[in-house]
Amino acid sequence: MGYASPMTSVITRFAPSPTGRLHLGHAYSALFAAEAAWRADGRFLLRIEDIDAGRCRPEFIAGIEEDLAWLGLLWERPMRRQSQHMDDYRAALDRLGRRGLLYPCFCTRADIVRQIGASAAAPHGPDGPLYPGLCRRLLPEEAARRQASGEPFALRLDMAQALAQAGPLVWRDLEAGEVLAEAGLFGDVVLARKDVPTSYHLAVTVDDALQGVTLVTRGRDLFAATHVHRLLQALLDLPVPQWHHHRLLTDESGRRLAKRDKAATIESLRRSGMTPAELRRMVGV
Ligand code: GLU
Repeated sequence: MGYASPMTSVITRFAPSPTGRLHLGHAYSALFAAEAAWRADGRFLLRIEDIDAGRCRPEFIAGIEEDLAWLGLLWERPMRRQSQHMDDYRAALDRLGRRGLLYPCFCTRADIVRQIGASAAAPHGPDGPLYPGLCRRLLPEEAARRQASGEPFALRLDMAQALAQAGPLVWRDLEAGEVLAEAGLFGDVVLARKDVPTSYHLAVTVDDALQGVTLVTRGRDLFAATHVHRLLQALLDLPVPQWHHHRLLTDESGRRLAKRDKAATIESLRRSGMTPAELRRMVGV
């Protein structure tokens, strides 16, 4: 795995998942990333986060390119598509595995719900209840037997071990300042899913390093995820970028814009006659 060498120039990226047409919130995020690079005379990259084969569709990738080009954005070619880089994620998993930080988890969603229901106090993290740890306690022979028998499994990070190996970590957000990394809030996160041999946390961390991203810009909804990314960087010996988590756009009633709000897609606004300049004014970039 050859990681890009640290560079002084600013490299930003926009990293959408092609599960629908881009909406106004995406337009804001893409413009925010591109402007940050442009102001610093840096580079702006596009990355397609399409590890979820069941939800991602090629026509949405074409839609992303069309919408960004219409907005007047220029990104460096070729864009990276995560689905074409599973070897890179495999290599990162091997590395974590060699450090004794991964374990196979055979639990189904129903198993996890049952375990949580059975425990007196189920701790919650930013993504919901924490994994109660049943498979962390499996005997190695038992785990190996179930793996060999073809039972599907995810790979989870042994968070307690990972935190012990990495020690205290901080990261820098351009608005929030220095932030103490609290990856432990997430418990034993999944790094390779049963259906996909990677996960959002792993792929985003590996890719930002491989692409030499120096400033990760994205919405505040992903602020807490950065705790996990900072930990993975430390465990994988990756360069540490800066972050800028930006505000989230809301509709008139204060609700966060989401993919279900069809009216707010860039495509529909374009079709209704809006110009790129008007859209920029609307989102305030
Ligand atoms: N693919 C993620 C999304 O569409 C964004 C990932 C990131 O910026 O780190 O929400």
